[in-house]
Amino acid sequence: MTITRFAPSPTGYLHIGNLRTALFNYLIAARDGGSFILRIDDTDPARSKEEYVEAIKQDLAWLGLKWDRLERQSARLPRYEEVAQKLRDMGRLYECFETPTELDLKRKKQLNMGKPPVYDRSALKLSEEERARLREERGPGHWRFRLDHARIEWQDGILGDLSIDAASVSDPVLIRGDGQFLYTLASVVDDIDFAITHVVRGSDHVTNTAVQIQIMQALGATPPHFAHHSLLTGPEGEALSKRLGTLALRDLRARGIEPMALLSLLARLGSSRPVELADSLEEIARGFELSSFGAAPTKFDEADLLPLTAHHLAAQPYEAVRERIAALGVPEGIAPEFWDVTRENITVLDDLADWWKLVREGAEPLVAEEDREFVAQALELLPAPPYGPDSWSAWTKAVKEATGRKGRALFMPLRKALTGKDHGPDMARLMPLLQKLRARS
Ligand code: GLU
Repeated sequence: MTITRFAPSPTGYLHIGNLRTALFNYLIAARDGGSFILRIDDTDPARSKEEYVEAIKQDLAWLGLKWDRLERQSARLPRYEEVAQKLRDMGRLYECFETPTELDLKRKKQLNMGKPPVYDRSALKLSEEERARLREERGPGHWRFRLDHARIEWQDGILGDLSIDAASVSDPVLIRGDGQFLYTLASVVDDIDFAITHVVRGSDHVTNTAVQIQIMQALGATPPHFAHHSLLTGPEGEALSKRLGTLALRDLRARGIEPMALLSLLARLGSSRPVELADSLEEIARGFELSSFGAAPTKFDEADLLPLTAHHLAAQPYEAVRERIAALGVPEGIAPEFWDVTRENITVLDDLADWWKLVREGAEPLVAEEDREFVAQALELLPAPPYGPDSWSAWTKAVKEATGRKGRALFMPLRKALTGKDHGPDMARLMPLLQKLRARS
């Protein structure tokens, strides 16, 4: 059975890059009829916040990315200790005492000598007495996993055949001096214990993957299938991280972006397949293929979300938006018709507020200088509301006869006089909704 997970650290709001990871993992599980785990990576008590855990859940719920199971790393510390002890017993975990400054110095020296800045394993040479002395002087040390200096190879679901020389990577720290388990270990233990079959994450994790494969193998586990998606950039190829603040999912939500627009775009962006607006996550999942994605950085333009949102809304039946329209104060009796008449004339749902204001209060007429007389004459011929389905044609016909105007020169000034805008819904359908005319007062 396919089991995937999305594993955010609750140190901030989810952004568009996180969504890509969450969505891919969700879609693989959904496509295979598997299970999707939301795993909160909260082993860092200083940076993890409950408020972000809640926000992550809200954002995923808004998008409809339902998780089958929720796990928190902070609840699993005894299990990580158990596994750490196992690694110690196997001689794969060793205690080190270098300070950050000392490590930094070592790295600089190595770089000066043209060598890769890989940890030199001097802690492995310490005798039992030296370790005891250092522990006394500096407190408990941090623990590194001793990599096996061989090539680590895997078939990546997006990047293809990968091979990394373990000797080019520092032995990773798995436990800090203060006892905090680091992500590298916690994630491996969880992926094994939860029987994760597929892991998709950003290409910034490729080296982690190499290391984690070795830890899994040391523990006698079979690594899951790994895939690393490219990182998103802005429309000009600039790093997105600079603009993360503006690309938090909740900001997009506040701007009126619809979940289906966002999901449809992200499910195809950076792949060889065209972006198509989908109706449901099931539909997106059905055709989802990781291998259609490329390795190159993927350009993301927030502006693309607007037309997708507009198309999505235009296709929605009233039932799908009933509550949101009610929230705008549109009475139930008129709401279905109001929606039908306006839905193709909005970009985001909040644009309805404008049309609703027009319907209820009328609009300041927009009259061009050269149309002033014509509009005044037309308005003389306009009866007071209420209007019916024939009111627009009856009125425009009467105006045409009285003034001799026709075509656009007839209709556009009348639209602008009644709505204050030069665009909008079919006037014959809008007019019966108009409850008040400012043009007459
Ligand atoms: N908490 C990690 C992150 O947010 C998870 C990475 C992973 O998927 O393993 O980067």
